[in-house]
Amino acid sequence: MVIFNTVTKKYKENIIALEDVSFRIDEGEFCYVVGPSGAGKSTIMRLLIREEVPTSGSIYFNEIEVPKLNRRLLPAYRQKLGVVFQDIKLLNTKTLEENIQFALEILDKSKKEIKDSTDYLLDLVGLRERKNLFPQELSGGEQQRGAIARALANKPDLFIADEPTGNLDSDNAKQILEILKTINKNGTTVMVISHDFNLINGTKNRTINIKDGRLNSDTQPKDIDLNNIVNKKVEVKEEKKVEEPNLEIVKEEKKESKPEKKERELSSEFKSLNKSIKKKFKKFAITEPEILLNITEGDLRNMKLTKKEHKELTSFVKKYLSKKS
Ligand code: ADP
Repeated sequence: MVIFNTVTKKYKENIIALEDVSFRIDEGEFCYVVGPSGAGKSTIMRLLIREEVPTSGSIYFNEIEVPKLNRRLLPAYRQKLGVVFQDIKLLNTKTLEENIQFALEILDKSKKEIKDSTDYLLDLVGLRERKNLFPQELSGGEQQRGAIARALANKPDLFIADEPTGNLDSDNAKQILEILKTINKNGTTVMVISHDFNLINGTKNRTINIKDGRLNSDTQPKDIDLNNIVNKKVEVKEEKKVEEPNLEIVKEEKKESKPEKKERELSSEFKSLNKSIKKKFKKFAITEPEILLNITEGDLRNMKLTKKEHKELTSFVKKYLSKKS
């Protein structure tokens, strides 16, 4: 499912965050990625969600060569991944239930599906009773469980939890791990990133240890064979004569889950914005103002906004937020 092949990532000023890191994670695995702070763990996650691209080496997610993914398809690609961070990202203006519903609404699910999935997810994380509370009315552990429920809404193939137990006491941390294990038993591949070595004490689960940007140890190392993937790439390229063969693979998957036309219609709230910025919104499938509130720094960089567009966007978000509150 995931292949990192001799991946090196250098940031500005030649800071080497990862050096020559290789590993393979198979479908259905539960895997820890551990290492001290600054070791390069989050960089692995950022490369995987394509917030960053490697300086050298290759990264694959289910035969998709991630760094080569066309930016237009990033939203569709990221729907295959569920990600939770330590700094919880529930929308403060919505109740827990609305937060989960919202994640399903932007996926164009039917009313019935939204209700059924929301109930299922609330039960999974043990928060049905708390569904009408706002994030700030929930404890840290509950917020984190809520964020997990929300990130699971799109039924991701891979669930990545970056320091999911970071600010929590040991009971709450245990609860979170139990939920992650349940998700894994239900068929989702899970990757837990943590600097907390207590978490892996006595674990039988696979543990990839990163130290100073290098792979220090892997309790279940797996061979990496890129031959099949490379063949597949060439095949598609020859048949369809497209410049970016991996794109085609994603396009096909995308068609099944969501009609393209709908994705490209912008909310009327964007009416007053300049043409150039609307064009970028279409390109990046930012169809609703709420999506703007959830995009990451990396997305913003990818959008390559001009100074003028940046200013316009900032003032739009400010106005939008003041209108909401
Ligand atoms: P971890 O998640 O293990 O704490 P990170 O992947 O966040 O480690 O960081 C690895 C190294 O890369 C650190 O030295 C960090 O300071 C550096 N780093 C991370 N992000 C950036 C960035 N955007 N620009 C420059 N250096 C960065």
